[in-house]
Amino acid sequence: MADTQLMPIPGMIDPVPVTRDSLVDGVTPRADGRIDLLGLPRDRITALLAEAGLDARQAKLRARQVYHWLYHRGVTDFEAMTDIAKPMRPRLTERFVIGRPQVVEAQHSSDGTRKWLLRTEDGHDYEMVFIPDADRGTLCVSSQVGCTLNCRFCHTGTMRLVRNLTPGEIVGQVMLARDALGEWPRGRMDISEEEDEAAYTADGRLLTNIVMMGMGEPLYNFDNVRDALRLVMDGDGLALSKRRITLSTSGVVPMMAKCGEEIGVNLAVSLHAVNKQVRDEIVPLNRKYGLEELLEACAAYPGASNARRITFEYVMLKDVNDSDEDAHELVRLLKAYRLPAKVNLIPFNPWPGAPYECSTPERVRRFSNIVFEGGISAPVRTPRGRDIDAACGQLRTAAEKKSRADRDREAADASL
Ligand code: SAH
Ligand code: SF4
Repeated sequence: MADTQLMPIPGMIDPVPVTRDSLVDGVTPRADGRIDLLGLPRDRITALLAEAGLDARQAKLRARQVYHWLYHRGVTDFEAMTDIAKPMRPRLTERFVIGRPQVVEAQHSSDGTRKWLLRTEDGHDYEMVFIPDADRGTLCVSSQVGCTLNCRFCHTGTMRLVRNLTPGEIVGQVMLARDALGEWPRGRMDISEEEDEAAYTADGRLLTNIVMMGMGEPLYNFDNVRDALRLVMDGDGLALSKRRITLSTSGVVPMMAKCGEEIGVNLAVSLHAVNKQVRDEIVPLNRKYGLEELLEACAAYPGASNARRITFEYVMLKDVNDSDEDAHELVRLLKAYRLPAKVNLIPFNPWPGAPYECSTPERVRRFSNIVFEGGISAPVRTPRGRDIDAACGQLRTAAEKKSRADRDREAADASL
């Protein structure tokens, strides 16, 4: 059963207690005793093969092959690893599996957005969302089950943090999406005569971008997020460019430079307010890491430039943070810190019991225009997948979410 001893969040920056109910060396134990290789780096696979009795040279060679099949080709069956000697394959199957997060429910929105409710081996639920657009397809990936940070406008924040996701559970989301979209490179031996290599490179794929904007605060699960994204970015792994990956943080200042140095992906910062009073209220982490500190950390973010701007997310909350003065102050702040910035205005997505309302469309437009006139791009993000609760901030697992019937009943009661 679950080990519920408290552990500090890796990184030791903010020792927020997290229940440890899985995680043996980053691997969630399986009931059948086999080890799931999903999420392990090449050297861990090598070590496991050596423990299984292979000599050092063989272990290294086989690990390289398994790694390629696992992450680059999306194969889950050792029997399909055709360059591994036939007698070796059952030996691998006996000890190891290549898993995927379990899919509890898959939903399709009328606008094409897809949401999957997933379950870990030890029974925790989390969600991922795929958002197709004309020129790209973005997978919104979760980093934790729940979140410790309690931003007041976010539904995930009203859930208690259950635990950090492992590297396998994080990279597993991207791999599952590739499975669902049928987007694994098939490799030279599978190409039919009419096709050429160009047919299976990144171009033309549905899943082109990843955002770490699902459930959880990725910088409070730094090591696992980094290890998972390394597998995603590795040319012999999922081979997705770091320029196509964006990590969103609510402002965990002490981890931001490390994120730029060790992961190197694009940064998005959930700013949402331009003064202490409002930000303290809606993003409580601001009481710990204030606006000045946050903007200084952004200015120092490794790799940020005019070609790779930092995205500032700004949720539009009626009469809270949406005035003309707020918009002018936003421009002033971003300029004062000389930030290579773009602003993403997110209309607030409501959820049952939320203490806020979304700004009116006219207000959002006016706010956007002021920021544009200040010389900073400020598009309004179209809410996607609202009908399946897949929009920003709506992710919360089924066990904790009220049923639609409950909600309808509540709405009916409220209107009496
Ligand atoms: N924890 C990270 C990443 C996940 S949230 C972070 O906070 O940045 C992804 C984005 O959705 C954040 O900008 C978050 O503030 C925003 N968001 C949360 N709840 C929302 C809601 N109800 N409506 C609109 N955006 C919301
Ligand atoms: Fe956590 Fe981000 Fe939601 Fe805040 S907005 S509660 S940091 S998931």
